[in-house]
Amino acid sequence: MSQTYDVVVIGGGPGGYTAAIRAAQLGKSVAVIEKEKLGGVCLNWGCIPTKALLKASEFYTAMSHASDFGFKVKGVDVDVKKLISRSRDVAGKLSGGVEYLMKKNKIDVIEGTAKFSSKNTLDVTDKKGKLSSVSFTNAIVATGARARQIPGVLEADGHTVWTAKEAMVPEKLPKSLLVIGAGAIGVEFASFYNALGTDVTIVEAQDRVTPAEDKEISKNLEKSLKSQGMEILTNTMTKSLKVSKKDAEATLEIKGKAKKQKFEKVLLAIGVQANTEGLGLEEVGVGMNERADITVDEFYRTTQSGIYAIGDVVGAPWLAHVASHEAIVAAEHIAGQNHIHTMDYTNIPGCTYCTPQIGSVGYSEEKAKEAGYKVKVGRYNYQANGKALAIGEAEGLVKTVFDEETGELLGAHIIGAEATEMISTFVIGRHLETTEEEFLTACLPHPTLSEMMGESVLDSLGRAINA
Ligand code: FAD
Repeated sequence: MSQTYDVVVIGGGPGGYTAAIRAAQLGKSVAVIEKEKLGGVCLNWGCIPTKALLKASEFYTAMSHASDFGFKVKGVDVDVKKLISRSRDVAGKLSGGVEYLMKKNKIDVIEGTAKFSSKNTLDVTDKKGKLSSVSFTNAIVATGARARQIPGVLEADGHTVWTAKEAMVPEKLPKSLLVIGAGAIGVEFASFYNALGTDVTIVEAQDRVTPAEDKEISKNLEKSLKSQGMEILTNTMTKSLKVSKKDAEATLEIKGKAKKQKFEKVLLAIGVQANTEGLGLEEVGVGMNERADITVDEFYRTTQSGIYAIGDVVGAPWLAHVASHEAIVAAEHIAGQNHIHTMDYTNIPGCTYCTPQIGSVGYSEEKAKEAGYKVKVGRYNYQANGKALAIGEAEGLVKTVFDEETGELLGAHIIGAEATEMISTFVIGRHLETTEEEFLTACLPHPTLSEMMGESVLDSLGRAINA
């Protein structure tokens, strides 16, 4: 006889483990089924290990500028093995931390691959092939997503053509790297490898890098990446890859013209694909859209009663903080809580940890105009900020977009050092519907990079002080 849980969560990533904890906090009996490691892609193969790698490459870059600060540093060598093992250790520590949280909240962790066998039971197959069954009143599907590939055209072989996972654990640094896709994952890896000496080429089908960002911010990033020595090919399609053990020859189509070029390694960063196969979803009546993302309502109920879905498996935006917030909404709905705060998808921060970093929230200037707003835009350059100069990080821009009529902050876009930390202030500002006037009358500390946020708001009113 299998045990019946109030809630069974499939997948122990930031969506799944957060949902499990919240449901347990609300008094539910909970189990998480995980086929690999607790923490999911985010902790094991995504957000965290990449940031450990990027810290290492930033450290390396800083050492090569040590003389600017009055240090003579000779011959800095990269120990790739050590650099990777540090990143893996950080990931391991955090996955262990989730294990602890499961115990602390009395959540059962079931190791294995889950598949629905009916609308209230799951089959679980463990690594040795042993089958068991778990019953539930409610299930939450949080199986995440994987790197998108295009069969027969852009396929990873794990050796010459990488997904992010292989790019995170190279045996050695390649001489050359083709990054296909200039979204967040693409430009982060491009920054990492370029800083450590690999010749990096980025190919992007759209007309700019980080196409989801404000145009002006993308332009700034492209300029900076080029100045760091990367080759950036926008409006360019990768038509094919001829792959061998030694290298890959890419056929690129740049504005109608074909060009062939060889690279030691290729990274596919062309988006993600939901993990919905093999779960028995259709059989139990869980609906999906044409991209095979699970379709859900604002409480993350699927088309089958008692089955919820959250995180990357329900589609964009594919972000860890989105997954964990959706998790809380779903768990609270299952527990019958009143006053559930549903997600506001217009106020999701996007952070890209390339060099220079990007942090943004809300409307870009172009999107605000397209939506019919009359906008007032404020700008403040890092060059004019005392702290930025003091710490040697004078490249960057803080841009704010306000509704001219109401003074509402429509969007904020930062490129430069600590952009990913600073953006939270604007997220809270937008969340609380803060007006320009309220931003301006808040006294920000000096000397900080955050001061630039106030200056950018002042600039939108034509009142900048330090510019
Ligand atoms: P996941 O984290 O993917 O977890 C899903 C879990 O389900 C996995 O552990 C998987 O093993 C398990 N699973 C799948 N199928 C089954 C099954 N049938 N049975 C049992 N278990 C199953 N996001 C950010 O917000 N910030 C970042 O800086 C960032 N950087 C990233 C960098 C990279 C290189 C990548 C690849 C992603 C990055 N992301 C980042 C995205 C982030 O990792 C995801 O948005 C997040 O992990 C989604 O969480 P999730 O819980 O939905 O799914």
